[in-house]
Amino acid sequence: MQRLENPGFGRIFTDHMVTVSWEAGKSWHDASVRERTPFQLDPASAVLHYAQEIFEGMKAYRTEKGGIVLFRPEENARRFRSSAERMAMPVMPEEMFLTAIEELVRIDRDWIPSGEGSLYLRPFMFADEAFLGVRPATRYTFCVIASPVGAYFKGGAKPISVWVSDAYSRAAPGGTGAAKCGGNYAASLIAQAQAAEKGCDQVVFLDAAEHRWVEELGGMNIFFVMEDGTIVTPPLGTILPGITRASLMILARDAGMRVEEKAYSFDQWQDDAARGRLREAFACGTAAVVAPIGNVRHAHGEFSIAGGEVGPVTRKLRETLVGIQKGSQADAHGWLHVIA
Ligand SMILES: *Cc1c(COP(=O)(O)O)cnc(C)c1O
Repeated sequence: MQRLENPGFGRIFTDHMVTVSWEAGKSWHDASVRERTPFQLDPASAVLHYAQEIFEGMKAYRTEKGGIVLFRPEENARRFRSSAERMAMPVMPEEMFLTAIEELVRIDRDWIPSGEGSLYLRPFMFADEAFLGVRPATRYTFCVIASPVGAYFKGGAKPISVWVSDAYSRAAPGGTGAAKCGGNYAASLIAQAQAAEKGCDQVVFLDAAEHRWVEELGGMNIFFVMEDGTIVTPPLGTILPGITRASLMILARDAGMRVEEKAYSFDQWQDDAARGRLREAFACGTAAVVAPIGNVRHAHGEFSIAGGEVGPVTRKLRETLVGIQKGSQADAHGWLHVIA
């Protein structure tokens, strides 16, 4: 397919979608794999007013031997479940979630690019009860759509620049930071727009309470590589528990590196960069995999990391993870889920 040669990210969609409905008293019903068509929504649908919506992001890869695999989809199923719980939405059994993904990948398998591309899968659920009162809705639609994608950032694996937001927070203790809900993104867009105004690719959020601790980017987790080889990443709590984050921690430990989940302040980040204690920094997530951070801008100045180049640890972790996903490196942890 011609369209698969340079698909970009998230602009092209496959022919099909999966939908499953949920209604109070009826639970999950009417599962179907069908032609991709627009939804008909009542203007009073709860999602349009109170934003009960959650989603996931995962990829189907064509391995070098031609097989089709998913990467740790059970983890997406589990996270979808906890996002649903946090947003007072019905929980979808993990088996049902996985079956929905597999069915869509099977029917749209010709859309999976080979080489560097992959098929991005977007499962999501929203409240479609027509009701304006404030309480959890009694009707929901679960859906999965798919989009063939290339590199998330136009420069590929070139280092990105980040803006450290001094004005906005992404999540607060007790809030929805750990849930993958659309509302978190809505709240982050103005900060992302500000980052773009400052000439940066992405925004970095600090914690809401003290505005001191590094949390994550708008849609990616963050890692720091220290001069003694230790890797530091912010602890779970208000950040999104990334599956890429968890996988990279395991791969780094496999490679003999020390990994610490600990609070890391922006002051410390600047100081470590200035004194040469910080060697590399990178962001990670399913869409962009591993994105080296080359330049950091903030309200009072800017600094660069690893001379604005891709550092060796970042490069190695990226290659290892992509290698496992593409089947060129051994899958020692049994992370690949083969689609028969
Ligand atoms: C999805 C997401 C991530 C990355 O999670 P992965 O499971 O690695 O794709 C990180 N931060 C935010 C805010 C996210 O929404």
